[in-house]
Amino acid sequence: MIRETFPVGLLQCNCSVLGDEASKEAIVVDPGDDIPRILAVLGKHGLTLKQIIVTHAHFDHIAGAEELKHLTGAPIAFSQADMPLAAMLNEQPGWVGLRIAAVEQLPKLDLDLRDGQRVGTGELDGLVVLTPGHTQGSLCLWFPKTELLIAGDTLFAGGIGRTDLPGGDSRQLLRSIKDRLLGLPEQTLVVPGHGGVTSIGAERDSNPFLQTI
Ligand SMILES: [Zn+2]
Repeated sequence: MIRETFPVGLLQCNCSVLGDEASKEAIVVDPGDDIPRILAVLGKHGLTLKQIIVTHAHFDHIAGAEELKHLTGAPIAFSQADMPLAAMLNEQPGWVGLRIAAVEQLPKLDLDLRDGQRVGTGELDGLVVLTPGHTQGSLCLWFPKTELLIAGDTLFAGGIGRTDLPGGDSRQLLRSIKDRLLGLPEQTLVVPGHGGVTSIGAERDSNPFLQTI
């Protein structure tokens, strides 16, 4: 699998370009900003974008999705449970004290991602794992063949997602992590929505937020 993860935008959201080496088909996860860089990475590997997947509808993860769709024709997929947040895209930066230019077109949901739904093709054989808590529509992507988890803002290296914004629920978040993520193989590479990578085993053993659940 081709994987390039790089931070985009003011809040340095980790955007991932994932590609199947054989078919040269790709998905992009969390195109929050910096669409030219995303297009350059796709171009460098000769990849055709098939799907834009958003782990949750916070502006730093979704704000570039419509532009990327416009330029590539790829549909936008996320959980319908985050539609209320997507509709408030231009208000969201104010919630965290930021001023960011408004997007002209709010992201439209082309494909509602359900729990257990398959995404990608070939080596890029991913499954949707719904993990509500950071937002009601938060989801992770689990790639069993490569033991890779794209975790959005649910689980970080040494941390968990904030739950003080509209739609957040701390007990639900901890339950999602415990019930849906901690049972994955311990060597699973976790790519969080912000910051460095980690593993399921490392977080299970030492993440301070997970020691009492
Ligand atoms: Zn978020």
